[in-house]
Amino acid sequence: MVIGVLALQGGFAAHAKLLRALGAEVREVRTPADLLGIDGLVLPGGESTTMSLGIEREGLAEPLRELVERGTPVLGTCAGLIMLDSRHLGLMDTVAERNAFGRQLHSFEADVDLPEIGTFHAVFIRAPWIAEHGPAVEILAEVDGHPVAARQGPMLVVSFHPELTGDTRLHEAFVRQVRAVAGAA
Ligand code: GLN
Repeated sequence: MVIGVLALQGGFAAHAKLLRALGAEVREVRTPADLLGIDGLVLPGGESTTMSLGIEREGLAEPLRELVERGTPVLGTCAGLIMLDSRHLGLMDTVAERNAFGRQLHSFEADVDLPEIGTFHAVFIRAPWIAEHGPAVEILAEVDGHPVAARQGPMLVVSFHPELTGDTRLHEAFVRQVRAVAGAA
């Protein structure tokens, strides 16, 4: 089982380290060839405009779409949530609003309640929220009435940074999902 971490820009190293600590084999993804044979993929936080340009430059958009269409589990965090929305890769029926909690409010922490996980202490860094979503999208958690965690098919997105707090439960759940899907294939 190999989990890819998109490594064009942003906070990929912390995700890779955490997944390795959980016993997963991790591959940094920079080109379409790196996507071959992976069983799951993390789209990390970072800067969504830079990440979009990198995806375009490397010709990654189409292979990423195919990966999701095959049912490969994907975890998108922060800028990763933005990448999956209808205005970027067009894989989730969502519209993400960037820096939604206010430009001046660079970061804050809040407890969010996640199904199957429970209370999770979440770090938000210039975080987006989901401003609009269609019926295929299941909202999992909100902060101040705005969706910050959601699921659609094999995609799970959170607008915070679960790789930064030392709480490994969200990554553990993702690894379990990847194992379950890879085992069933
Ligand atoms: N504000 C960033 C953007 O819009 C996302 C922030 C993050 O990933 N921590 O690209």
